Parts: sequence; C-alpha cells; structure tokens
Amino acid sequence: MTQPTLILNGEARSTGSLGTLPLIDPATEMEICLLPKAGRAEAEEAARLAAEGFAEWSVVSPFERGKILRAAAAIMRDQADEAAADMTREQGKPLVQARGEWMGSADCLDWFAEEGRRTYGRLIPSRSPDMTWAVHQRPVGPVAAFTPWNFPAWTPIQKIAPALAAGCSVVFKPAEETPITGWRIVRALLDAGLPPKALALLWGDPAEISDTLVKAAEIRKISLTGSTRVGRLLGAAAGQELKKVTMELGGHAPVIVARDADLSKVVPLAAEWKFRNAGQVCVSPTRFLVEAPLYDDFVSGMASAAEKITVGNGTDPATTMGPLATATQFAKIQELAGDAIDKGARVVAGGGRIGNRGWFFAPTVLADMTTEMRAMTEEPFGPLALVTKVDDLDAALAEANRIPVGLASYAFTGDSGTRHRIASTIKAGMLGINHFAMAMPETPFGGVLDSGLGSEGGIEGIHAYLTPFLVTALNQ
Ligand code: NAD
Repeated sequence: MTQPTLILNGEARSTGSLGTLPLIDPATEMEICLLPKAGRAEAEEAARLAAEGFAEWSVVSPFERGKILRAAAAIMRDQADEAAADMTREQGKPLVQARGEWMGSADCLDWFAEEGRRTYGRLIPSRSPDMTWAVHQRPVGPVAAFTPWNFPAWTPIQKIAPALAAGCSVVFKPAEETPITGWRIVRALLDAGLPPKALALLWGDPAEISDTLVKAAEIRKISLTGSTRVGRLLGAAAGQELKKVTMELGGHAPVIVARDADLSKVVPLAAEWKFRNAGQVCVSPTRFLVEAPLYDDFVSGMASAAEKITVGNGTDPATTMGPLATATQFAKIQELAGDAIDKGARVVAGGGRIGNRGWFFAPTVLADMTTEMRAMTEEPFGPLALVTKVDDLDAALAEANRIPVGLASYAFTGDSGTRHRIASTIKAGMLGINHFAMAMPETPFGGVLDSGLGSEGGIEGIHAYLTPFLVTALNQ
C-alpha cells in the first residue's frame, strides 16, 4: 500500500505539526495507514513557497509548461493500475470506475497543457492613430485549491491543470479521506519536471489550513470543490481578503421524464448513472420527476434495475457499486432515507444498510416523494433515487426550480417543443438531454445559485486562473 506524505518544496514530509490522523478503508472500516496531520505551520510555509514558485513558474513559456504537464499525464497513464487500486482502497468506488477517473484526469491534464498555449490577448482599435491598446493575459498568482473525496483525481486535476497551465503556483489540499490519489498526482507532476515550489501538497486540519491560506498575502485565488456550507465559509473569508474564487458546490439534479420519453432507454441509463460512485456525484441524477402516464412503469423499472446492481468491495471485479466513502456520509443517507420513509415514501428497492461491516448502503429507490421530505431539498449525495409523479411539464419545471441550487439538470424527451421549454426555463448550469454524461475536459462545468461561482473545464476553466492586463502605449 502506498504511504502518502505531505509534499513541501518537492520534499516528502512524513510528520505533521498536529500529529497524525487515520486513513480508513470504507469497505472494511480498517485503518489503511496513519497520515501526517498538517496545520497552520505547514500552510504558512506552503504559502511562502508558492510565492517563490510563482516567480519561477509564471515566467516559463506556455509551450514549455505544456511539455511538463503532458509528461505528467504520461506518467499518470503508466501508473493507472496502481493508482486505481489505491483510489478504490481509500474511496471505495469499483476499480473500473477508479481507473476511468484516473485516465480521464490524465486526458484533462493534456487538454490544459494545450489550452495554456492559447491564452491569447487581443489588440483593441484605439481612439488615436498613434496609440496601441493591448490586452495581455496574466496568471492570477498563487492558488489555494481544496477538493472533496468523491472524485479524488478529477476534482484536483480540474484545478491544478488549468492553474499550472496558466502559470500559477498551487497549494493543494485534498480531502483527508482520499490523500493517496492527490499525492500521486503531485508526484507525477514533480517527477515530470515541475519546479518543486510550484506545487505543494498538505492535509490535516481543514479549517486551520484553509483559514491560514485564505488570509495569506501570497495566495491570490481560492478554488474549492465541496459543499455549499464550506463554500459559504471560504467564499466569505476570501471576500474579506478581496481574493478571486471559483466555487464548485453542491447539486441536487432534477431529471424530467416527459410523457413521450422512451422508458426502455431512460431506465437503464438512469439506474447506471444514479448509482455510479454510490451516488456520491455532484451531478448525480437525484429528483426524478416523471409525468403521470409513465410513472408506474418508471418506478417498477428503476426498482428492478437497482436490484440487479452488485454491491461489494470495489476491489472485487464483480462489484458495480462500492460502499459510501465516509461514515458521516453513511449516517446522512440513513437519516435522509429514514425521514422520507417516516413521511410516507414508498421503498421499492433497497432502503437500508447491507451487512454490518463497511459503509454499504443498498441502491435505493423511493417513490411517491413529496417536498416535506428532507431528501427532496437537502443534497443526499448517495444511492437514493427519489421519484415523484408530476401532472405535466409545468409541474415538473416548478419542482425542478423549487430549491436554490442549480448544477446539473436532465430531461428525457424526443419532442423539440418540450426540449425548448425545459432549456429556456430550468435554473441550472448544465442540462443533459436524453443522456447523463457530464464533465469533459473541453466543456465548461459549473453551477448557478447555491451551486457555486465560476466554471471549470473548457476555455472557461483556464480563464479562471488568468487576469487581463492592459497596456496602452503612445507611440512616439
Ligand atoms: P466539504 O465541503 O466538506 O469539503 C471540501 C474540501 O474543503 C475538503 O478538502 C475539506 O477538507 C475542505 N475544507 C476547507 N475548509 C474547510 C472547513 N472550514 N471545514 C470543512 N472543510 C473544509 O465537501 P465534501 O463533503 O468533501 O464533498 C461533498 C460535497 O462536494 C457535495 O456537496 C458535492 O456536491 C460537492 N461537490 C461538488 C462538485 C462540483 O463540481 N460542483 C464536485 C464534487 C463534489
């Protein structure tokens, strides 16, 4: 098993100023290893190093930066099997999903390696013939990046790749629950030739580390993927310091199943994407809003699809859904399912724990959901498919837009008028029509309302780490 360490100035640190913390395997509840626990001291050091790293890295040409990022992507691909095994062990997802995430993250690194070469400025026609007005794109400065445990490779890469490609240095704090994957990413970049001060890795006490980094004068941008609760905390602190932010926060995706939808296509897709990563996906389809004529067939179809899912340790190749990643998440899913059942939800599949070791929760389909049930408003982030009958499209849209989050949304219909109504009315950052696949390196990814600020991915992803610099010259 890989033993991860903090990395400062390219050096492994196996002790932390706050002692140690355990890393737990969610499938067995056994300790994997003890981690060094960092706090204020390491965060202050990392901020200082990041300022020096920025001075060094920001003057490297985008062409040369791109070579290093591509070399790191190649290292990542070479390590795919070991990295997937580590990810499954610390996070719980099935090996095939871990491998797919790791390889997709290498692709994302490649995309931003190239995109860095296209951070064009522009010339603006000036008001006087003897003046030139030129806009350059400069890196924003050292970045502090915080990521969650659900996608331990993809969420960090969505920040580290564009930040480094733009010429920023990065202090990276992965979730304490999934440090090994983050460690592997940092090692790949350093081994590929990244200057050691351009990327630091630390974890430990999240509140202490984030408070220190957000207030550190050297750090100029805060990028968080995480909960709306932590987004508000870091956003407020960053606002106080007048620092730029990108906030990729919680979702609660509605899925409108219109009366003309083809259930033979919708149901298998819905079950596959609902229970992927045990539902711990910010864009996971969650509130299924099904028009009345299709409701009963949809409910029974989802129930039988859910029952076919093989739940087990992610290291077993037969497993299609692993455990929940943390004890806290497991407790939350139990609580939200219990609340819905108490208030009249109909359990048509799953509904509770599997076994008594490991945080396994059965793929669950709850029908007849109503808005009084907490799960309809609070993001479950777990394997709960919540199904509600709606009379018509108006009712579906009203429910979809009822809560103040707006990350992904989905609609199933072959009708162009219905599609247009939904696309023009839904409050979300993204809409998938007749499919659930979101998040590609080339496309922007982000939410509205309480789901966050800014976008990652695509050309928007790199602009989040650039700032325009205007030079006006009177030509003599
Ligand atoms: P979280 O908000 O608890 O933690 C996210 C990161 O912030 C972690 O690294 C955590 O340690 C750190 N953090 C910094 N300051 C903190 C503080 N003061 N207190 C606590 N943590 C602090 O999120 P999580 O539980 O790890 O992840 C689940 C959430 O992430 C869900 O809400 C999910 O929707 C969201 N998410 C969003 C996206 C997106 O792109 N929009 C993607 C994945 C996950």
